[in-house]
Amino acid sequence: MSAETLHVSERAHQYISLESKHGAHNYHPLPVVLSRGSGVFVWDVDDRRYFDFLSGYSAVNQGHCHPRILKSMIDQAQQLTLTSRAFHSDKLGLYEEFITHLFGYDKVLPMNTGVEAVETALKLARRWGYSVKGIPDGQARIIVCAGNFHGRTSSVISFSTDPSSYGGFGPYMPGFDIIPYNDVSSLSRALADPHVAGFLVEPIQGEAGVVVPDEGYLSRAAAMCREAHVLFIADEIQTGLCRTGRMLCCDHEDVRPDIVILGKALSGGIMPVSAVLADDEIMLTIRPGEHGSTYGGNPLACAIAMTALQVLQDEQMAERAEILGQQFRQGILDLGSAHIKLVRGKGLLNAVVVDHPDPEAAWRLCMRLMEEGLLAKPTHGDKIRFAPPLCITSSQIDECVETIGRCLHDLD
Ligand code: PLP
Repeated sequence: MSAETLHVSERAHQYISLESKHGAHNYHPLPVVLSRGSGVFVWDVDDRRYFDFLSGYSAVNQGHCHPRILKSMIDQAQQLTLTSRAFHSDKLGLYEEFITHLFGYDKVLPMNTGVEAVETALKLARRWGYSVKGIPDGQARIIVCAGNFHGRTSSVISFSTDPSSYGGFGPYMPGFDIIPYNDVSSLSRALADPHVAGFLVEPIQGEAGVVVPDEGYLSRAAAMCREAHVLFIADEIQTGLCRTGRMLCCDHEDVRPDIVILGKALSGGIMPVSAVLADDEIMLTIRPGEHGSTYGGNPLACAIAMTALQVLQDEQMAERAEILGQQFRQGILDLGSAHIKLVRGKGLLNAVVVDHPDPEAAWRLCMRLMEEGLLAKPTHGDKIRFAPPLCITSSQIDECVETIGRCLHDLD
């Protein structure tokens, strides 16, 4: 056993060894083996209970195994799961009507994983650039931000600035201009190029450590894009669906993106479901046979997504996230710990930056939190994201802040 897995049970160790022996080593998980989840909690194979403060990277906003979403899944799975898009289904149109009305767009293009939806948005922006804006063929450019995380495909890592994402995977897809995040002057310069079709941005950079831009950045950026006849494309895969205290994070600034990208909580963590929303001028530039996915828009996904979205509304999850997020950040600040450089976030998408001479301090803190029954994961070394399911209660937030305070003491 390695030092990291020393304290895990023999049973847990066996599962970890299986993964290590037979699975690719492309993740570095905490040494905990989960077998069950409900609401804000998950349980390990030894029946220890944990608060889940990662929520499947914000896929489980509605809480683990939400009974209404599960029921929709089971009911639909007993009827029809996949038709492919070679045929119509009695769920796709209903879902498309539901989601486009909810978000106020003409059309939706359904995909599966988040990165597929990002790829879809990029293709749409390029196609719109050629067929509507009149950019010469093959010359469309997309502006993106340093520190971005939009997924793991070859084209998406081509414009990552994180060497652990792009390093050793070249050659890279051309056509992207990287500018600093939260910097309207750089955006203004980049928009001067008439070949720019779109500006792809995360309303908050989640993977970078919950980097929140200045107030007004998104609305200013959207206005500048409109002026330059460039599509404002919001990747709301992590920030959307009530996580930050609004249905979309862009709603905080009353910004209506030209293209919205959704994923993760669109299924409440049950299966990969993603979507791209846009109006006809953009969406209808892609014609039959030019883009798609075998599973995209399958009846099972449609049924699950409709209920997942309905649950977010019925359980007022945006309002909960807004109020409980403030409570969480204030609670962390009130701990007054010397090991917290700062706490930042919106709604229940928050992170602390750990202040400690040991570069492994954030990892050690997460290990201690795990021992105390709270699961969180460091991102980019010194940052820890705290993003529990949005069904967490006020007294549970207090309990968890107390646990975090106790574990911070152990870093002394
Ligand atoms: N975009 C953002 C903002 C994300 O946070 C993520 C995943 O963390 C993705 C895209 C990629 O989503 P997926 O892992 O489902 O492909």
